[in-house]
Amino acid sequence: MQKILIVEDEEKIARFVELELTHEGYSVTKATDGRTGLDLAESGEFDLLLLDIMLPGINGIEILRRVRRESDVPVIMLTARDAVMDKVSGLDMGADDYITKPFAIEELLARIRVTLRNHAPSREKRGELLHCCGITLDPERFSVTYNGVPVELTAKEFAVLHTLIQNRNIVMSRNTLLEKVWGYDYVGETNAVDVYVRYLRQKIDERFGVKLITTVRGVGYVIKENTEEK
Ligand code: CA
Repeated sequence: MQKILIVEDEEKIARFVELELTHEGYSVTKATDGRTGLDLAESGEFDLLLLDIMLPGINGIEILRRVRRESDVPVIMLTARDAVMDKVSGLDMGADDYITKPFAIEELLARIRVTLRNHAPSREKRGELLHCCGITLDPERFSVTYNGVPVELTAKEFAVLHTLIQNRNIVMSRNTLLEKVWGYDYVGETNAVDVYVRYLRQKIDERFGVKLITTVRGVGYVIKENTEEK
């Protein structure tokens, strides 16, 4: 459940927003003065902050300024109508968005959704995708693309490719690949690796006219990454 902090001294607005956000499935904490708001905001417990600007104690811009020293938590400012300066300073201070009071709750909900979505680190950024030689491999979704073009692989083909890419520039012996992909207790054709490498070559090398997997005679296979590519 995503946690939202609202700092707003107008009880009616705070309460209304709290109810609506709770109804939407967010966990909501409410603060009605700047000091409490700042303490909560600095706790780092929230996924998004809604900050009113004119607050007793510490104003919203100041809360934002202090929060931004150590956190990039998404912040939406609640500003009074036509307070252009507030909007400008809020955005200057690193607010993600602002909404002018009075606002329709649907608009606030939409802005919250967008802000949270934009903020979610993409899987790309989290380093969950493997990139090598034009191949992008997504271990979670079992998907592979070559320069953006989807490549359909069976589970075993995927596993062989995954292992080779994880160990790029390291020559993998047939036995090592067998162990990693088929498991230690594999009993079967020892040429299974060669068979799957051949499938991969058909699906990638031949299709795209590249030389992805290199055979190292008498040893095994390697995917060599051209380091100058990056
Ligand atoms: Ca206020």
